[in-house]
Order: sequence, then structure tokens, then C-alpha cells
Amino acid sequence: MRCPKCGGQDDKVIDSRASKEGSVIRRRRECLTCAHRFTTYEEIEHEELFVVKRDGRRELFSKEKLVASLKRACQKRPVSEPGLADAAERIVDEITDKFDREVPTKEVGERVMRELRRLDGVAYVRFASIYREFQEVGEFVEEIHRLATLPPSDKRQMALLPDGIEEPPTPEKA
Ligand SMILES: [Zn+2]
Repeated sequence: MRCPKCGGQDDKVIDSRASKEGSVIRRRRECLTCAHRFTTYEEIEHEELFVVKRDGRRELFSKEKLVASLKRACQKRPVSEPGLADAAERIVDEITDKFDREVPTKEVGERVMRELRRLDGVAYVRFASIYREFQEVGEFVEEIHRLATLPPSDKRQMALLPDGIEEPPTPEKA
């Protein structure tokens, strides 16, 4: 790094610390020629990724929006914050790995559904029915069938009860 004071090319890093959740590294440097101290910031460069909707409109991919829609689907469901954050991370990793500049909405939607299916059956169906990204209605029906044949332990969380209505308590055995 060129010293802003004397233009010297050599410096040593005297302190490094991460900020903004580790996405930015701040380095304190000292010029080896004039001992002037200055600070540099190092940040990961993200290429802009656009989500392409079915009608061709493009929108900048936003992790915040992704997390928001995951949260919306999981509202009042027993899904933890870290669980959601991990799911979002996996989706972002996969998408940025596979797509350079543009990703079709469908590709994002499919990954969201896959993660939700793993997290919570109700959240999954909720998202799927709102998102309507199933290629065919038949696929959706097939999925409902699949979920309906899950073992009872999984099925319990599939009960599509409206928010706020509790399942009746199981009668105690005498
Ligand atoms: Zn200098």
C-alpha cells in the first residue's frame, strides 16, 4: 500500500480487526520509510447478482429479502433464528456458486422450498402456496400427498391449524 504521506511502497500491518460481522477487515499500517500510520479497509467484493422474474423483470438479489420471506413463512412456527440464518446461508452459497450474474426466481424459490421443507412442514406449504412457483399444480398436489403419508410424528407438525388455535389436548389415560 502506498503511503499517503511520503509515497513509500513498503509498510507493515500493526493491527488488524474485523468489523461488520467479519465482512470488513480494518488494517492499521505503518510506513517503513516515514513511520506514518494509516488505515486501510479490506472488503469482499460481491458481484451484483440479479434475480430474473418470470416476466423478465430483474431485481437485485437481496439476502435481507430472502431472510424476510423465510421468516414470514416460519411465523409462529417452532423454527429457531439460527436455523433460519443457516438456511439462508445455504441458499445464498448455492446460488452464488452456481449463478454469476442472473438467477431465475424459480431457482431461488426451489431452494427456499427445499430448506423450508427441512425446517418445518407448515412453513413449507405456506410458502409454496403463496409463492406458486411449482411448475405444475400437479406437483403441488403430489407434495401434499407425500406430506400426508409422513409418519405420525412428522404429521403432527403438518396440521394446518389456523394461527392461534391450539390442538385439543390428548385425554389422559386412567
Ligand atoms: Zn511514508
